[in-house]
Order: sequence, then structure tokens, then C-alpha cells
Amino acid sequence: MWMSRAKGLVLGSVALLASIAGSASAQVAPALDVTNSTGYTLPGGSARLVIPGPTVLATLPGGGVVPLDTQTVWKPICSNRAVMTPDDLRAMVAAHNADFADDTKVIIVDRKTKGGGAPRAGLDVVFVLGPSVPAAAIPAFAAAEAYMESQFTTDAFTLTVPVSFAPLQSGVIGGTGSSYGTASWASSRSLLVGGMDGNDTIHTSLPSGSTIPVRYSVTSTTNETRIFWTFANWKANGGTVSGNDASMQYSTNFPFDMDPSNGVTVNTISLQDVIIHETGHAMGCTSGVDFRSKDIEAMDIFRFRRTDGSGSSDFNPDTPAEFGVRPRWAVRNNPNDDVNFDDIGAAEYRFSDGSPWQASHWREQVPAIGIMDPAFSYGETFYPNFYRTSDLTLFDAIGYDR
Ligand SMILES: [Zn+2]
Repeated sequence: MWMSRAKGLVLGSVALLASIAGSASAQVAPALDVTNSTGYTLPGGSARLVIPGPTVLATLPGGGVVPLDTQTVWKPICSNRAVMTPDDLRAMVAAHNADFADDTKVIIVDRKTKGGGAPRAGLDVVFVLGPSVPAAAIPAFAAAEAYMESQFTTDAFTLTVPVSFAPLQSGVIGGTGSSYGTASWASSRSLLVGGMDGNDTIHTSLPSGSTIPVRYSVTSTTNETRIFWTFANWKANGGTVSGNDASMQYSTNFPFDMDPSNGVTVNTISLQDVIIHETGHAMGCTSGVDFRSKDIEAMDIFRFRRTDGSGSSDFNPDTPAEFGVRPRWAVRNNPNDDVNFDDIGAAEYRFSDGSPWQASHWREQVPAIGIMDPAFSYGETFYPNFYRTSDLTLFDAIGYDR
């Protein structure tokens, strides 16, 4: 069930103290029903909670209508200092639902103009803050929104994220729930090709039939027929689908630094960095390797073995033609630490292999490859350039034109 949010306050990020504007068009947080949810515990103890949703009709860039089987996947926010169980996530979702029971109390962070008042083009991030969000945190969401929108000015679509805070257990930063839909490979290819810009020519080399080859085990190839998409990633390619893109809950007990522009205080975590990282997962930096059983997500279309080979043992494409036929590498931790992001572009970037670091990230190393690094530390920040070339290359490949 969706609730109207027409009565909430709307704050523009450049006028946080002054602006209380009219209504916004997206929904407030849905009451997510965990009754039929399925919990997973990953190697290393991290939890996942899958909440099934309805089958919805979505559109492709050319206007075709396709059914998407939907689900919301909740996970602990990365770098948690404490292990969470699926039941912890169920409790988190219940508290998140409760925070939006009165939609007159939400605060909508949604700037409608660029600096100077010019209409803002491209990505439109909307944070819908429940009444539990501390006033001191609101500028952090506004700053994260402004930064992300400044980086993606081509594809015009709205990315909506309801946010709540709650007193979570010690060491827990919070959790994020991303909305997913499942589409056929043929529709997924149409989506990616339809969403191309001038530097995305590699997409025309994607397999043109009804399947894409994937290795879920070291020894055999599966002709995969479907792809899991985050709603945001679907829309970045010019498709449409209704509903919130993600939900987030942060802990009121966790020590956050709200403003990294003056440095990050020792023993605190930069909230702006965490917001941008977690929104990055909802945007599509996410891998089926982490918990799905023989399924891939859209980013995995660019996931290949790192080491090169030859003949039938070549799992690292070197040309667009090879990109079309080499199997994607969706094997956890085998061979160890041997998987790349590869779009046959200027650089390949190393992904985590799922153990010990979750596969929805770059490889853990120092210095970090990008903000989609799996480990985030106290006192650390990527400010002022939160996204690195690696992050922007990945997002461009999966549909965020640049
Ligand atoms: Zn992460």
C-alpha cells in the first residue's frame, strides 16, 4: 500500500532554512510487508532480507511494456561493526514503516534548481526524511543530493529514498533496502542499448539472442535468461517503473560526522560518504554473487575473470567481439580475488569476489579504488570528489550517461 506524501515539507538544499514549497510527486515510504520475506546469512555473517513485491508493468526506452517481478532487498549498511541477522533487518523495516505513519511530518529534500536558480537537469535525487531524522543530519542529505545530481546531468529521472533513524544496537550504522525488478535478457539488452550515449558503443556487442553466458561454477557455463535490475538503474537507461528506489535507516546511536568539508572527526563516520555509497548500491552497484542462487544483476554483465586465458579457457574479453561471447564470472571466491569490472574501455577495475568482502564492491585495497570500496573507516572521507573515475566508469557502463 502506498501513502500520499502531498502534505510533507519540501526543502530545497540551497535554502534549507527558508524554503517550504509545495507538494512533490513521488510516494512516501511504502509499508513493506515482511510476512513472506526470506532471510539469508552470507559467508562472514552479513544478512540479507528479501521482501517479495508484485509484478509490475515497466517500460523500455523505445516504449515497449514488460512485466517486472519485484522485490525489496534489505542489507546492513556496509562496514557495520556488528553482525546483523535477518530478524534484525525485519525489526528495522518495521521501525522504518512506523516512522512514515503520519505523512504530514515528512521532510522532503529535493532541490529543484541549480545554483543561481537555473532549472536542474538530469538525475533528480529525492530524500524523504521521516520525523525520526535528526535535524543535524538534514544538511548531510541535502549535500549528498547536490553532489550526486551534479555528477549525472544527462539522464533525467527521479530517484526516491525514504530515510528514517532509530536507536539500533551498538556498532550498527544502519540498513538499506533497494528495489529490484527481474527482466528477461532480451529486454535487458534492449534497455541497455536504448540507454546508450555516444561513448557506450560496447553495448551493441552484448549477446543478441535470448540468453547471456554466465559461469556460476568454475567448470560450466549457464545460458542465463534473466537479469535483476534496481529500479534506479532501470530508469537511468530510459525505462520507467513506479515505486521508491531504496529505503534507508540509520542509527541514532552511531557517531556520525555530518560535514566532511572541515575534516572528519576521529572515531566518527562521515554520513555524506555513507549516503553516497549506499545510494550507489541502489543505483546498481550490486552483484548477484553476494546471495543469489544462480542469478546475476545488471552490474554483473561487466563482471569477468581478471586473469586472461586462451581458447576455451579465455574468460577475460579483450575485444568487443569477445565481450559478446565470454561468460560473465559469477563464482564466489574462486579463483580467489580474480574478478574485474571490464567494459573493454581504457581501464579494468578489480571487484571484490564475495569473500571476505561483498561482491557488490570494488576490491578492498589501500588506497581505495573508489567510493564503492567495501570497507569504510572511521575518520575517512572521499570529499570533495566522492566518486572516483572507477565509480563513474562503472555507473556510465550500466546506464548513467556521462
Ligand atoms: Zn557497500
